[in-house]
Amino acid sequence: MTESHGISPTSDHFTCMVDLFGRAGLLEKAENLIDEMPLEPNASVWGALLGACRINGNTELAEVAMSHLINLGVVDSGSYALMSNMYSDLGNLEGLSDVRKLMRQKQISKTPGCSWIQVNNRVHVFTADDTRHLQRKEVYEKLDKLMEKIEDTGKYVNKLGFSGPKSCHSEKLAVAFGLMTLPSWMTVYIMKSLPICRDCHLLMKLISEATSRELVIRDAHRFHHFRDGSCSCGDYW
Ligand code: ZN
Ligand code: ZN
Repeated sequence: MTESHGISPTSDHFTCMVDLFGRAGLLEKAENLIDEMPLEPNASVWGALLGACRINGNTELAEVAMSHLINLGVVDSGSYALMSNMYSDLGNLEGLSDVRKLMRQKQISKTPGCSWIQVNNRVHVFTADDTRHLQRKEVYEKLDKLMEKIEDTGKYVNKLGFSGPKSCHSEKLAVAFGLMTLPSWMTVYIMKSLPICRDCHLLMKLISEATSRELVIRDAHRFHHFRDGSCSCGDYW
């Protein structure tokens, strides 16, 4: 860039490179690039590294990225959610309780995860382990049926023995509701207030395959378009 085009890289360029290295699983290169940056790495750079760590399951480096975000004073509930999802994916209960403690100290309230879906011009909101939606009984039954169908394929392992916080995330309920109420040709569109977790992401891919339905989830970061068992994000988010 500098030699052939006379352009000096800005923080945005470094953010993109960190993201690219992360996608390629080259965390060490991403880390080295940040170390050698001529600029002071900003929140986007550390945010990109944090995302890369989540995907590659590297909690140590994620903690480094997180501490920089905290020092910069820009850490939001989304980053904390990402961190706790990561610990919970790995079954690291100690890490999980540390994040919770930190959130209390920083007085960051846990944004309650919720998902919305529009059906017949009405917006239906679901929270995790929903106890308020009028048709929740039917929704849980539908979800149970879906889970059975998916577990039969052998592609989904219900993480037994780890009863963490992911009992039933709101998007699972919203999808079950969408599938039971919308006509079969219709794509199911869902909005979600937090980033989708790995478990739900895998489940959505399998639901799209098992039901031959297209599902679109707009989470806190991006759109996920699930079709025929895969997602448009390429499992990177
Ligand atoms: Zn989830
Ligand atoms: Zn996705």
